[in-house]
Amino acid sequence: ARGLITRDLRVAVQGNEILKGIDLTVEPGRVHALMGPNGSGKSTLAFTIAGHPGYQVESGSVTLDGEEMLELAPDKRAKAGLFLSFQYPAAIPGVSVANFLRTARQSVRPGDLTPAKFRQLVFEKLDVLDMDPAFLGRYVNDGFSGGEKKRLEMLQMAILAPKYAILDETDSGLDVDALQSVGRAATALRESDDGRDMGFLVITHYPRILRHLPADVVHVMMDGRIVKTGGPDLAERIEREGYDTIRDEAAAAR
Ligand code: ADP
Ligand code: MG
Ligand code: MG
Repeated sequence: ARGLITRDLRVAVQGNEILKGIDLTVEPGRVHALMGPNGSGKSTLAFTIAGHPGYQVESGSVTLDGEEMLELAPDKRAKAGLFLSFQYPAAIPGVSVANFLRTARQSVRPGDLTPAKFRQLVFEKLDVLDMDPAFLGRYVNDGFSGGEKKRLEMLQMAILAPKYAILDETDSGLDVDALQSVGRAATALRESDDGRDMGFLVITHYPRILRHLPADVVHVMMDGRIVKTGGPDLAERIEREGYDTIRDEAAAAR
């Protein structure tokens, strides 16, 4: 089946079960938002799908267009078409954005573009993302604003052209500039030929990013479970009411 699909995914961290059976399907070309209060397990899901060590999968599966991901090392998952934004991108002094992007592309799709074609791709994506080519000459994340870090991440995503991207925005949730950058860039990518079939899982505590990147489907996670799934109106409700009323409903239903 096409899609980024988790089935009955149970995950423990240091012996504590954090994810208690997650069923989620992100279809190609669709944006799913995963929302929920702090500590509910959203980042645990993102790290588990990406193959971060330290997250013990107790049961369940994660497939990408039918291919089982849990048996693969993280770099193989990236090669299969998975992209995970990093919450705390490190500065890499002495490495230019241009070289960083070249290395990233080479690691995911070795040797598929000549240097000239790669250069053409980079300029095309800069244009799609409305970014200044001067950006390429700067050192990675060295003195970058929150918004610039996010723009680099989105440029990297555009260059890698993954099938599915997981954007975990929790900890930049208060930086409006960064949120706008992500939302606008992802929207621009979705409107480009390469981006049309990309599926997104946008993880966010705050509904605000969804103003810039409208979700087709919204899920609410609490205590390691998805307790509610709905349309964009669910994000609007969370914006109005917070999570308390949904928590009460979920408790009453159990
Ligand atoms: P969210 O992203 O929704 O805020 P997290 O996935 O970060 O939630 O955390 C879910 C729960 O798992 C929390 O109780 C957190 O303390 C615990 N947890 C997550 N990662 C770790 C870790 N590396 N070590 C210990 N506990 C962790
Ligand atoms: Mg958190
Ligand atoms: Mg988190």
